[in-house]
Amino acid sequence: MTSKYETVIGLEVHVQLTTATKIFCGCATRFGADPNTQTCPVCLGLPGALPVLNRKAVDFAILAGLATNCRIAPRSIFARKNYFYPDLPKGYQISQFELPICEHGWLDIETEASGAKRIGITRIHMEEDAGKSMHGETPETSSSSFVDLNRACTPLLEIVSEPDMRSADEAIAYLKKLHQIVVYLGVCDGNMEQGSFRCDANVSVRPRGQAKFGTRAEIKNINSFRFIKAAIEYEVERQIELIEEGGKVVQETRLFDTGTGMTRSMRGKEEAHDYRYFPDPDLVPLVVDAAWIKRMGEQMPELPEARLARFMADYGIPRYDAEVLTAERGLADYYDACVKLHGNGKACANWVMGEVTRGLNDQGIAIEACPVSPQMLAGMLKRIDDGTISGKIAKKVFDEMWKSGQDADTIIAEQGLKQVTDTGAIEKIVDEIIAANPEQVEEFRGGKDKVLGFFVGQVMKASKGKANPGMVNELLRKKLQS
Ligand SMILES: [Zn+2]
Repeated sequence: MTSKYETVIGLEVHVQLTTATKIFCGCATRFGADPNTQTCPVCLGLPGALPVLNRKAVDFAILAGLATNCRIAPRSIFARKNYFYPDLPKGYQISQFELPICEHGWLDIETEASGAKRIGITRIHMEEDAGKSMHGETPETSSSSFVDLNRACTPLLEIVSEPDMRSADEAIAYLKKLHQIVVYLGVCDGNMEQGSFRCDANVSVRPRGQAKFGTRAEIKNINSFRFIKAAIEYEVERQIELIEEGGKVVQETRLFDTGTGMTRSMRGKEEAHDYRYFPDPDLVPLVVDAAWIKRMGEQMPELPEARLARFMADYGIPRYDAEVLTAERGLADYYDACVKLHGNGKACANWVMGEVTRGLNDQGIAIEACPVSPQMLAGMLKRIDDGTISGKIAKKVFDEMWKSGQDADTIIAEQGLKQVTDTGAIEKIVDEIIAANPEQVEEFRGGKDKVLGFFVGQVMKASKGKANPGMVNELLRKKLQS
């Protein structure tokens, strides 16, 4: 059924910037503070209070624009977007309308179904967030609503794509890439649950081959990749069914209900706002000269794609490993630091993707909170390389580092985990094991080669895992064959 129709998706993403203070005043942007404790006359919208643009927010907008291949406008304008809502005390939101700071960008994505593809970015503009309405939840307050203006005036970027995506999978690939980039840039914390990265999806369908776009519905404020995919897929099916039944899709704003997995109408086109935009007379045009853009270009961190290519080329790891290790900037930084200290790209990749990631998942913590630092991990790997400990004992040392925060050398010394490479000591154990198992010795000498494994196991056990396995093998062969 879907094959008769083509899906068209355009996305508008709101990215909350990680500046310490708000976009037009000096109030803090910290999440989770008591209501209305991070406010001042400017963000409360008191008469006569004047906005002052936060330079850091402009830096971040330029970085995001450069990273998404946009042209940075030499002159852009802040406009008033007029509407009334209780969480917007000024009666307007300051945004950019006709002249945004970034335009004409693109991102390359890849999906299984359609391969590599370029998605256009129409524009990126800067704006302030509104406050938050809260509804009473106790019997005393259930008939009341409250307004918290801590979030009012928080800096946002709105990143608007071209309607270039043709499936929910392409939309998700684009969003994940954009999310990865803004987090790598450090301009957004990427926390979708707290709304730092949220998405409006414009979805329409048209008969395959038709050039004209179908009528679109806009699904508002979806804040998880899973919900965005579900919302788009539901909406596509709904529109196709409607058309097949002879109905018409109407242009409207819809909400995605995470409980039912369905979208429902919020407001139609006739109720759409007329925002009566006009340039904000309190703010001068924003002028960004070439020097400013150049400075930001120089501050640009290595982006995920470049890093993935470098990890493969310089550290000799397979694409799969490089993709896992660059998915998040924190993990990539950690791995990068390990390899710089230790030198073996593949060995570090195995440990970071194995024990380190497992430990983080078990405890539900981020890499930034990992109790084993890159220095500690590299230090331990060096002890495997120089034969101080075996790979098996290394797992034990790693667990100890994780629990105690001590480095590998301290743990190896204190717990006597040093690998036994003293031939005499190993020989003594080998002799004891051979003497204690005459039947197995006969079997081996009778041609049953497999029995060697039994002997190796016994010797390793007797040495508490500390005997050098290579030496154990060699000594056993020599003695059993003699
Ligand atoms: Zn303020």
